[in-house]
Amino acid sequence: MSKAANHILQHEVDKRRTFAIISHPDAGKTTLTEKLLLFGGAIRLAGTVKARKASKHATSDWMEIEKQRGISVTSSVMQFDYLGHRVNILDTPGHQDFSEDTYRTLTAADSAVMLIDVAKGVEAQTIKLFQVCAKRGIPIFTFINKLDREGQSPFDLMEELENVLGIRSVPMNWPIGTGRDLCGVYDRMKNQVELFQGDDHSTIKVQKVDGYKDPIIREMAGEYLHDQLCQELELLDVAGDPFDMEKVQRGELTPIFFGSAINNFGVQTFLENFLELAPKPEPRSSTAGEIEPTNEKFSGYVFKIQANMNPAHRDRIAFLRIVSGKFERGMSVKHNRVGKEIKLSQPQQFLAQDRDIVEEAYAGDIIGLFDPGIFRIGDSLSQGSEVIFDELPTFSPEIFAKVTVKNALKHKQYQKGIDQLTEEGTIQVFNTVSFDETILGVVGQLQFEVFEYRMKGEYGVDVQLQRMPYQFARWIVDENLDPSKFRINSTLVKDKKGNYVVLFENEYAMRTAIDKNPTAKFLETAP
Ligand code: GDP
Repeated sequence: MSKAANHILQHEVDKRRTFAIISHPDAGKTTLTEKLLLFGGAIRLAGTVKARKASKHATSDWMEIEKQRGISVTSSVMQFDYLGHRVNILDTPGHQDFSEDTYRTLTAADSAVMLIDVAKGVEAQTIKLFQVCAKRGIPIFTFINKLDREGQSPFDLMEELENVLGIRSVPMNWPIGTGRDLCGVYDRMKNQVELFQGDDHSTIKVQKVDGYKDPIIREMAGEYLHDQLCQELELLDVAGDPFDMEKVQRGELTPIFFGSAINNFGVQTFLENFLELAPKPEPRSSTAGEIEPTNEKFSGYVFKIQANMNPAHRDRIAFLRIVSGKFERGMSVKHNRVGKEIKLSQPQQFLAQDRDIVEEAYAGDIIGLFDPGIFRIGDSLSQGSEVIFDELPTFSPEIFAKVTVKNALKHKQYQKGIDQLTEEGTIQVFNTVSFDETILGVVGQLQFEVFEYRMKGEYGVDVQLQRMPYQFARWIVDENLDPSKFRINSTLVKDKKGNYVVLFENEYAMRTAIDKNPTAKFLETAP
């Protein structure tokens, strides 16, 4: 690579920010995403995000099931430019469409924005997603939303973050008044206040001040709110954690921003601070060591496969996170699992629902590759020498169903369907040891519906699913396994590779089994 090309690569990598927004349904993720896209001038996209939510589907190439339910089955990627940055937002679906895809998408992000409803605090889905991010040790930025409503006090929320998620926090700004009295926020980093103007709070005034004690704030917010602000910030200065970039980078400290997405309040300063603090594309580890994004050889891995975005073509799209170098349309790369060179000629980028052809992309970007059935989740592609990235994490299924084929003659197609869908990584298949029944395990209920729908649509097989009462799966490693042991509120099954797995109906049954089998190991995922 020439010196000039190297310089361009470095510049392109430096300006990229790839992150996911994690939250519980209704916290305001769609609203916030829409506002962020608006700042990037991507108005058309903002509209699309809204339309998707409101189930007004204009385009025809989303899965039928998606249209029927007005939700997005699998995550998409949105890209925009802002103040010299190229921003990639990875959408992580929530609601009933929560699935392993949601988790895996997080591996493609370099940081996460955790969105929290000021009244509801830390909720169930936030906890799950947070834990996946925390395991990776990526920086997490917190946006406390709906500040225009009555909610918990900022101090209580900080305590909740620490108690429930185990993360310390450092407020980057602080509300002046709350709920109906909210008149603005004080930006602790930039020493400025942002105030609502007018009765409908439709405009926002930004004013530089000389610290939070500045009398200008008193004039603008009134004596009462200013006194309160001073007291709270004094307390924070003394007792709060100082801002420590290294701790933020290690995921040990989360910067908190307060705002209101719907009123576009605090969103712009959040975005600007976030882009400054959030990491640029990070290296990933592989068989060839750590691969730096500025490595001139292109490399990347598939973290998600989405089927049938265009039902007429029955194609699949493999989502690839570029780890290093530059992607150019038509380039040849090594498909390391199969040991072949392939040409990347039909790459797509996902801007909400539109598919644009990408000509070039850089480390940190996500591209969608047309997949005639050659990719699997976790596949590594590289230019030049072989690079195989670390395996993607698998997740323990939490919902189970017994599956039967209505027409026994369709068994072959059924098997093909099962094989392909497990390859895509959205369902896990188990067989009971005693009766050879098939049990499916998933992390989100919607996967069952998608499974039924695709079995019928793509393989012509009608299946029947019967929910089973299990809630936990544990891979068991035991020299002297006694299958008769797992009968009470549990069942012994085998996974596709023949590993023993016990499905438990409840935590108590699981704990008892663990206590009674001190020599056995119970693993959350396959060994
Ligand atoms: P999602 O499920 O996380 O994508 O949440 P949405 O963006 O759809 O928002 C859920 C609801 O909260 C919607 O009715 C929004 O209008 C509302 N909402 C979002 N942000 C705010 C906010 O800052 N203040 C108030 N009062 N409501 C908000």
